[in-house]
Amino acid sequence: MRYWKPEDIFTAPCPFCQGEIEFWKDEPLRVCPSCRKEVRNPKQDFGCAEWCKHGLECLDPAPEGKKPGPAG
Ligand SMILES: [Zn+2]
Repeated sequence: MRYWKPEDIFTAPCPFCQGEIEFWKDEPLRVCPSCRKEVRNPKQDFGCAEWCKHGLECLDPAPEGKKPGPAG
């Protein structure tokens, strides 16, 4: 177990049920103990791909059917 300080943990209200959620400062997502929904850490500033389940779909896909053919 790593050493940690009380200030490494903070509480934030759940946006769904207004319950209190304890966030670890490094944790991007936390499951609300009251409503069991996933709540994003409000103090983290990740891109959506880090936490959103549609993150991969958000990313620009490489164009297909444009493979480099043989020269000539
Ligand atoms: Zn909740």
